[in-house]
Amino acid sequence: MPRLSRRSFLAASAAFAARPATSAPALPATDVVIIGAGAAGIAAARRIAAGGRKFVVLEAADHIGGRCITDTYTFDVPYDRGAHWIHMPDINPVMKLAPRQGLEVYPAPASQKVRIGRRYAREGELEDFLAVQVRANRAITEAARKSDIACEQALPNDLADWRPAIEFVLGPFGCGKDLAEVSAVDFAKSAERGADAFCRQGFGTLISGLAQGVPVQLSTPATAIDMRRNVAVETPKGTIAARAAIVTVSSNVIASGTIKFTPDLATRQQFDAFGKLSLGSYDHIALELKENVLGLESDDLVFEKSSGSRTAAILANISGTPLCFVEVAGSFGRDLSAKGEAAMVNFAADWLAGLYGAEIKQAIRRTHATRWNSEPLALGAFSAAAPGAQSARRVLMEPVDNAVWFAGEAVHETLWGTVGGAWESGERAADAVLRRLGSKEPPPEAEATPKQKPKRGRAEPPMRQGSGAAPRIMREE
Ligand SMILES: Cc1cc2nc3c(=O)[nH]c(=O)nc-3n(C[C@H](O)[C@H](O)[C@H](O)COP(=O)(O)OP(=O)(O)OC[C@H]3O[C@@H](n4cnc5c(N)ncnc54)[C@H](O)[C@@H]3O)c2cc1C
Repeated sequence: MPRLSRRSFLAASAAFAARPATSAPALPATDVVIIGAGAAGIAAARRIAAGGRKFVVLEAADHIGGRCITDTYTFDVPYDRGAHWIHMPDINPVMKLAPRQGLEVYPAPASQKVRIGRRYAREGELEDFLAVQVRANRAITEAARKSDIACEQALPNDLADWRPAIEFVLGPFGCGKDLAEVSAVDFAKSAERGADAFCRQGFGTLISGLAQGVPVQLSTPATAIDMRRNVAVETPKGTIAARAAIVTVSSNVIASGTIKFTPDLATRQQFDAFGKLSLGSYDHIALELKENVLGLESDDLVFEKSSGSRTAAILANISGTPLCFVEVAGSFGRDLSAKGEAAMVNFAADWLAGLYGAEIKQAIRRTHATRWNSEPLALGAFSAAAPGAQSARRVLMEPVDNAVWFAGEAVHETLWGTVGGAWESGERAADAVLRRLGSKEPPPEAEATPKQKPKRGRAEPPMRQGSGAAPRIMREE
């Protein structure tokens, strides 16, 4: 990955001077260790700070933001490599807190276009598309009331030649997975996405603004978490003792086993739950296009009336710039991204040429494609529950041994797959940790002889449910 602009990223904190890993006893004890400085970790840190507790944020990457980062290096304009749509800005928790200065947030266009071969869908055809989409949504929601089948099984049989387009919009584009791999209950619980907004300076810039003043230990991966006596978190720079940990890494990272838990997490129901909430595939193929060759307005979203799964969506002229995304996702996107960036850019060029004419290819200047499945600190885009597995999200809201809480987009029942959901889950985990810590006490002595094992309290009560957006479009009103 090219180096990202560091201007908006936080420097490591002087509050935590990590030492080299040795057998020597460790390191500054603290109240809470937060693992990961994406949206959930930043939200948790802010909440713990507001609660007056000491904390350390460990981030494996050399920058904050996780799956919500803005790259100001590859193109001359802000390029959101991960999240870009601010869903339901009126109620999105990050919007309530977003810094007012230096950021311009504006509404996304309310409608989308559909390309049918070399022309746009006519009004009647668009109405058909929307009507079919409403029926598909309704069928999934009704099926979900009875059982947690795959969304694909719930689709009406009579979607006719709109079926591939509907399957793309609701599955890969909305959930990062084909509908055969998505739980109908998870789909139905995800909140409507009535309105969206964009941040001209990038969603990642907005999130990093919210991290101002939050100390983060960059380039410091957690490699092991010992939950036997309070919490001890190992890093290559040393071990940190704490009274609780909030783990915000992605479900695929947990399932990959790169963080070793003691006792073994694999024996716990949470591990199983992470496996059922695996991340789907969603990537941006970013193209700088000369002279608005597509003839689209700023932030126009275009789908194709496709005949199969080999399709994509266009987000054109991002914030009025020459930058366009060709969005690929689901199993087609996963296979394509596995072939590498050149294959992705070639697909985008050929696909656009098929829809707009071969001259498009001459208008392509600089290019880049994200490959989130290959990013070791994410291993995918965002979670979608497997059929029958929606309840896994609630399982992840339960702490492990009253010492480790999970947070992140996967740990949200309605806003999964979004920055807003990640943020709320981080706040919720932090609130639960603050309740567990109760009145202020000094943090545990790192080197002390083990004291009596603290009694593990009962699991926290179920957390408040959020409401708001999910990565859906044009859902039934
Ligand atoms: C291409 C793409 C498009 C998207 N589009 C949208 C959108 O338009 N709108 C929207 O709302 N959402 C979107 N999303 C989803 C959104 O980006 C995520 O839901 C959200 O950013 C997840 O935040 P998080 O804090 O849960 O996880 P993350 O952002 O993944 O944060 C976890 C952090 O943990 C770090 N980490 C990993 N392992 C370790 C370790 N061992 N030790 C320490 N740190 C570690 C990671 O580096 C990362 O910084 C998109 C995602 C992708 C990939």
